[in-house]
Amino acid sequence: MKNNVLLMLVLSICASIVIAVVVMMGVMRHASTQLLESDAEHTAVSWAEFVSRSVPDLDLLLEQGELTERARTQLKRFRHVEEVFRFKMFNREGETLLVSDDLDDPAGIGSTKSSIGHNNTKVRSLVLNGNNVILLERGGDNPQRPDLYSEAYVPVERDGQMIGVVEVYVDQSDRAALISTAFNVVAGAMFVLLSIFGLIGGSVLLKRLKAERLADERVRYLAYHDVLSGLMNRSSFNEALYRAAQSYREGGATFSVLCVDLDHFKNVNDSMGHAAGDEVLRQTGERLRSLVRHGDHVARLGGDEFAILQTDVHSPDDVSTLAQRVVEVLDISFDLGSEVAHCKGSVGAAIFGTDAMTTDSLLHKADLALYRSKLFGRGIFSFYDEELDQQVAERNTLAMALRAAIDDEQFRLHYQPQFATDGTTLKGYEALVRWEHPTLGLQMPDKFIPLAEETGLIVPLGQWVLQAACAEAAQWPGELSVAVNLSAIQLRRDDLVEEVARTLDASGLPAHRLELEITESMLMSNTAQITQTLNRLNSMGVRIAMDDFGTGYSSMAYLWRFPFDKLKIDRAFTESVDKDSKVSLVVKSIISLAHSLQIRVNAEGIETIGQLEALRRHECDEVQGYMLGRPFPEDQLVHKREGYADISNSITTLKPLGKRCINLFGAASRPPAG
Ligand code: C2E
Ligand code: CA
Ligand code: CA
Repeated sequence: MKNNVLLMLVLSICASIVIAVVVMMGVMRHASTQLLESDAEHTAVSWAEFVSRSVPDLDLLLEQGELTERARTQLKRFRHVEEVFRFKMFNREGETLLVSDDLDDPAGIGSTKSSIGHNNTKVRSLVLNGNNVILLERGGDNPQRPDLYSEAYVPVERDGQMIGVVEVYVDQSDRAALISTAFNVVAGAMFVLLSIFGLIGGSVLLKRLKAERLADERVRYLAYHDVLSGLMNRSSFNEALYRAAQSYREGGATFSVLCVDLDHFKNVNDSMGHAAGDEVLRQTGERLRSLVRHGDHVARLGGDEFAILQTDVHSPDDVSTLAQRVVEVLDISFDLGSEVAHCKGSVGAAIFGTDAMTTDSLLHKADLALYRSKLFGRGIFSFYDEELDQQVAERNTLAMALRAAIDDEQFRLHYQPQFATDGTTLKGYEALVRWEHPTLGLQMPDKFIPLAEETGLIVPLGQWVLQAACAEAAQWPGELSVAVNLSAIQLRRDDLVEEVARTLDASGLPAHRLELEITESMLMSNTAQITQTLNRLNSMGVRIAMDDFGTGYSSMAYLWRFPFDKLKIDRAFTESVDKDSKVSLVVKSIISLAHSLQIRVNAEGIETIGQLEALRRHECDEVQGYMLGRPFPEDQLVHKREGYADISNSITTLKPLGKRCINLFGAASRPPAG
């Protein structure tokens, strides 16, 4: 391409110069003919005038064809005057009267018969009509003639009447040589000038072409590459996929796509800055490129998303070998000069012809496989799996529905009562969210809370729960409290404290009647931000409960490091507290330890009287469970039921209470919905 342009340029400059020279030569030839003709005419006319003035009896010769001796003598003198070397005379009809060659021999005069213009009738008629006519001739082989001469016909007039014609032979060799030398000099100079202009113009043009070509190349590069990593971008990767599919359909080997995603790349960006993030992406690109064979392609599709097109795939093993190597190479930490970043990679792969028959679907399926890798622990690779496809599709549908549910307010709160261990004194309720799905019916939190957390929808959903629970609790009598479950994402938000304060303010609920339940796992990152959030909530008067104690590390350390008011023993312990002596002992020590830290204890999941009795013996402060009350909608809450106050006042012993609780609070029956 580059050479072609150059060749074209050189050729067109040369052609322009050649054309210019040819045109110039044409113009010069024309000009030189004109010059010679006018010179010949001038010479001939002067000669003829001079002759007609100086030669006696010339009229006699022209009009009557009579040549006197005086005239002959004189004419002989005019045979060679300057460039004139021959002449002829004709009468007015154009008949030859005299040729200068015959002047020496009077007998020969009139013997030569030649015609005006060598029988050219046009010339003859022009001459006989009184015009000067010049014919340029070449001497050729004739030794008597010069190389170049003119035959100039000049009519001779007397008193305005043409009486004859003289034909004057003018030698123009010298004049022509002079003109040609002059023209050659001019032509040479012009040629040199043209060449210089051509060269300057050419080089300017060449420079501009080069600049345009560079700009073109840059634009093309940007259109097909990712600037940061220098890898292919999405559009050129799609083209490569398309070509690979084409070759597969023409009988070529199959190929695979590996989608690669850096795990926790966002953390690198957030904590080490964007320059570090960029460097990790660049190094990732280099590492991936170093793994592939000639003919394979690596692309950065955007963000921390990379893809490999592996060609010449003969078995799934080929793909898993490469995928495994990608996982391994990304497991090595990234050296960023002063710092080191760790960012494992997850890989998802799909094979053309097996998993998908179109390139779009292949990419999509590799992406689904990547999603699976991320789901199952990250830093691993997975193949596409149809069942997974189904699950993901369902999950996406659910995520969409969840989003709509927040706008359409399809969520409800159910409240599970919490009692003092006497089993009668109602202390408050735990708010538990439900989703009233328009077609699927009532959905329990385990169906949608994890998805809400994954999609970030937990933030608006959590806000709604907090507001709804506070607004409801504000209507409750006395000191009944409400416990609200928080997600890790909510706890990590900087605006949680403000949000809680705003909600309490708006609902009018005193801060000490709100309890926020968090789990141990949320504290494991133990950041200054979380400590500060919990301390601020605590100083506002809001109570903090540790939920599900016993399911995680069950580290007592969290209990004194953070401002907990309550510890909730998980159902897993409650279940066997009255059957397994070891569990009983553990629960007992947890309760006494908590008490020594001024932390109250709630035991969840009480289903039998045996459990309740065991907990009462261990001096547990609070109980909660199906036996005492299932979660109910707000219009069926325990304290809103008829006779609630009487019962709670009159029953003091545990046994009858247990039974009556079962009967009265409906613990043995299924919850109204779900
Ligand atoms: P959790 O905080 O441990 O809530 C207690 C769960 O145990 C509730 O299930 C409750 O119905 C159930 N339960 C109570 N007593 C008994 C019993 O005697 N036996 C048995 N087998 N189960 C009992 P639910 O309502 O399905 O909630 C499940 C989990 O969903 C909750 O566990 C909590 O982690 C989460 N969750 C519920 N509502 C919210 C919410 O508004 N926000 C957040 N972030 N999470 C919530
Ligand atoms: Ca809870
Ligand atoms: Ca719990």
